[in-house]
Amino acid sequence: MLEAGKKAVITIDAIATGGDGVGRLNGMAVFVPHTCRGDKAEIVLNKVKSGCAYGTATKILEPSPYRRADFCASSGACGGCDLAHMDYEEQLFVKGQIVKDALERIGGFKDIPVRETLRSPRPERYRNKMVFPLGRNAEGKALGGFFAPASHTLVPLTDCRQGHRDAGLWLGATLEYLEETHTTVYDENSRRGAARRLFVRLAEGSKEAMVVLTANAKKIKQPELFVEKILAAKTEYTVKSIVLNVHTEPNNLLLGSKNKVLYGTETIEDVLGGLCFSISPHSFYQINAPQTENLYNTALSLAGLSGTETVLDLYCGIGTISLFAARKAGHVIGVEIVPQAIENAKENAKRNGIKNAEFILGSAEEIAPKLANEGKAPQVVFVDPPRKGCDEAALSAILKMNPKKIVYVSCNPATLARDAKRLCQKGYTLQEAVPTDMFPNTSHVEAVVLLQRDN
Ligand code: SAH
Repeated sequence: MLEAGKKAVITIDAIATGGDGVGRLNGMAVFVPHTCRGDKAEIVLNKVKSGCAYGTATKILEPSPYRRADFCASSGACGGCDLAHMDYEEQLFVKGQIVKDALERIGGFKDIPVRETLRSPRPERYRNKMVFPLGRNAEGKALGGFFAPASHTLVPLTDCRQGHRDAGLWLGATLEYLEETHTTVYDENSRRGAARRLFVRLAEGSKEAMVVLTANAKKIKQPELFVEKILAAKTEYTVKSIVLNVHTEPNNLLLGSKNKVLYGTETIEDVLGGLCFSISPHSFYQINAPQTENLYNTALSLAGLSGTETVLDLYCGIGTISLFAARKAGHVIGVEIVPQAIENAKENAKRNGIKNAEFILGSAEEIAPKLANEGKAPQVVFVDPPRKGCDEAALSAILKMNPKKIVYVSCNPATLARDAKRLCQKGYTLQEAVPTDMFPNTSHVEAVVLLQRDN
């Protein structure tokens, strides 16, 4: 009988969504984090449910050939890189399998061509956005780092191999500032204390940087000292924006609603695919710059625009896909829920001299039905929703508009499969899926699929 606390020896034969290794004991699937296909491991069971069990590897008895040496000294302690113990080729294979699996099991698709996972041009130090929670240790010394897996316990770090070295330098400068000004740090339980997180964003194409301190306060002590310390760091990127974000709400959102510019401007500029993009702290921006260009080029090549189409880009962010598409289409309409992102998108169209793109503020589930009712009939629809996928109202509106092609960009294979299934029940065929590795060393999987209208 399998029960919690029991020890066992298991061979891992697959990697599940979420990155855990999976093996079998008495025919039951057992999920074991930080293992590779082919590992023979001694495990202890933590939880046994009716259909599956969860364990922790206590010893790797025979290591898989796909294992590699520790990628980072904080591996395991930090919750950030759950595939860091796997060599990169294996990560790519695993991500392809996760996409294929979701499409088959959740979407009910069979024999769809899933391309080889598109490799990230840089398999490490690719992140252009870093968010460091701030805290103090038992002795009261200021710390920044990441949370341990499935917890809010801070693992202190001075540099992270997923991000640029500059981010670690600004973190160091921030900790000095917190020490010198005796600034308190936010405690989630008591909801007291000021400094919450340091958020850094880098624009790789322009080498501009934005540094945002989020605080549970309307003001911070000696803001000029914070600015001075950030600007004094010997970094490759040039800081163009230093912002205090007022975040007094007890939620886990990265940012509160209000920004106060402490230095420079509220936005930074990036150059991507020959276009220039203005980005606000609240706007979404893809975090792996060189791979973003590949992602967008894949989406565009699947769309196969001829230069005359009307295109709808739902969940458009700052209008990146929209403006890439505008160069190859007749007219583009972008829809996005975050007001700052829509402002950025309008500004981005203007400064790139793009006149055939318009942007609408609102949710996809509200705006798409309106567009459908107005008789808008785009030939191509791009959708790039957050992890929860598309709302039913957005999907029915797309179906009503009856586009020839739907290009679905997704960061969650499960909701992608669910939504693609829904669209394919109503006259579309899934032509191709392209897993794209936007997030090396983590189990996050991005994919682009093409759905084409039948007949
Ligand atoms: N295509 C863009 C953004 C993708 S991320 C890019 O590549 O940069 C998903 C975007 O959807 C985010 O900008 C988010 O703010 C937006 N969003 C989230 N929920 C939404 C909704 N219900 N309707 C419209 N946009 C939404």
